[in-house]
Amino acid sequence: IFRRQLPPSPSLPPAPPPLPQTATKDEKIHLLQNTLKDTFRLPSFRFSQLCTLLDTLNSKDCVTLMPTGGGKSLCYQLSSYLNGRILGKSVTFCISPLLSLIMDQVKQMNDIIPNSAVAFCTGVPVTEQTKNWNRIRDVGGGVCLAFITPEKLHKSQKLFKEFTKLSDQNRLARFVIDECHCCCTWGHDFREDYTKLGRLKATFPKVPVLALTATAPKPVLDDVINILKLDKPSVHKSELKRANLRYSIKSKDSDAAGQIHEYICQNHLGQSGIIYTLSRNDADTLSSKLRQLGIAAQSYHSEVSSSEKKGIHEDWMSGKVQVVVATIAFGLGINKSNVRFVIHHSLSKSIFGYYQESGRAGRDGKPADCVIFYAPKDVGRMRCLVDNSVAGEKQLFTMVRYCEERGSSSTCQNLILRGLGEIDKEDMHKNGDFEEGLGTETIDVAKHVKVLIKFLRQTDGLTTGQIATEWRAKEPDPIISEHVDRKELSKSQVEHMCVQLIVKKILGVAVHGNKYKNTMYIIPGEYSQQCLESENLHIECKFEKTKGSSTKKPRAKIRTAPTEPPKPQWQKKIDPNQRKLKESVSNGGK
Ligand code: ADP
Ligand code: MG
Repeated sequence: IFRRQLPPSPSLPPAPPPLPQTATKDEKIHLLQNTLKDTFRLPSFRFSQLCTLLDTLNSKDCVTLMPTGGGKSLCYQLSSYLNGRILGKSVTFCISPLLSLIMDQVKQMNDIIPNSAVAFCTGVPVTEQTKNWNRIRDVGGGVCLAFITPEKLHKSQKLFKEFTKLSDQNRLARFVIDECHCCCTWGHDFREDYTKLGRLKATFPKVPVLALTATAPKPVLDDVINILKLDKPSVHKSELKRANLRYSIKSKDSDAAGQIHEYICQNHLGQSGIIYTLSRNDADTLSSKLRQLGIAAQSYHSEVSSSEKKGIHEDWMSGKVQVVVATIAFGLGINKSNVRFVIHHSLSKSIFGYYQESGRAGRDGKPADCVIFYAPKDVGRMRCLVDNSVAGEKQLFTMVRYCEERGSSSTCQNLILRGLGEIDKEDMHKNGDFEEGLGTETIDVAKHVKVLIKFLRQTDGLTTGQIATEWRAKEPDPIISEHVDRKELSKSQVEHMCVQLIVKKILGVAVHGNKYKNTMYIIPGEYSQQCLESENLHIECKFEKTKGSSTKKPRAKIRTAPTEPPKPQWQKKIDPNQRKLKESVSNGGK
């Protein structure tokens, strides 16, 4: 922000005097502050920047966590400038996951310090890359900072040879791993080639590594440190809890588009937001419905061409597009500070994913909303998308538990922090802000569970929907001897009960299907036999209060604009049917 207001500087300001080897900490801070002001034209350091810079300049391995837009780039821009031009002639190599991020960063750095940054990746002509290598090899070449994608790093034998030569001359300043959470399989930004980056530290143990990310809860952080083989790194971390975000869970009915439209009109009229959907098809359908209802919405996913993506992103940044309806493909590199709401059209794959996605709201520190429109049937859809690993299922079920809890905003945040491994159960209660869900009631469903298990044993498994209709409709079966009024629970309550029982492992799941479509079937779970044998069984399930019962208020018809806003040039006509087949075959839904 500050930088943009200044006219571009035609020449570099006078360089600060070089720092003697024996410089004290105060002298180093003084140098850093002067460089920040004179060269980078910024008034003061932000939280974590100064300690990160001191550590990395002292050749210490370092992991720094700062929210998106927090100023992580400055940590390598400034340190590489000092190492490359002021304190010595060494080069910092930065590994970054996306071409677009790299190009932005090269430009930014060269705008501040002319001719100081280069990139080695597809998109840069080979002749230019050769020229850049020559400049790097040349002590007087002026290159401080070079960007590479992880793929390039592993494909090219040449790179490690060049690193060795530089290292022998003492000119390898550091390796920076930007977006380092990409090494961890936990989130959906996982990149195979990031897991091989430990090779850097293994080959060059003395060269410091600076790893940067916006989100790394404890288990992810441990993974990152292990994978990158960092040597007793210092960790600089800002608070994970986001006080300005209000979290909530809403029950989704059959007209999700109408519900979401109503929610936006009532709470965020004209304000900028993101809606995450589970599939590309959902994104296309929902954004087109919202457009019909007068909201300037556009869909964004892996099948949108890169030029369209760029257009949507720009229009969203400028406010021309109010809402981006996206799959998780809308993630890395997104940095808009005034996002007032992040809506989930269905649950995320994991709490970590949800934390990252919802965390794109309210970067400016002002209040913002994170809402999930949740229906139990989405659990089955999502279960079919996550891999069959125990870890994958566990993470999804943590997410399901979060949705089923329907807690207050602070309970939600606590559940998220707990799901991330940041706090334990006791801390949640100690914090004193673990409140009961709003408008929920707890019912002991033990007698229903017993009958349901017996019923399921006579089948090969049923979907949640089938259970809610068939099991409830069945006449009392002589084999199932209990006389339980199965109509006591509503259809929706049965669906919620099923997913809550899955999370408790009283019910289990089996995913069957062909290459076009998978379905989640419910079967008796690990603890089903124990339940049947227990004389004094209590199983509590949480449901939305049914006060006023099923007479639902019809949704008010709200239209934000009388006509659909004009379609931008780059927007293609989308035929939802065209994508359906591919959609169901693809497993990630990105
Ligand atoms: P991220 O942490 O997401 O990588 P960036 O490094 O891209 O964020 O920084 C986001 C913005 O913050 C940039 O415009 C940058 O100029 C600005 N910025 C970084 N550090 C400071 C600072 N100390 N004071 C003011 N603005 C800063
Ligand atoms: Mg960044």
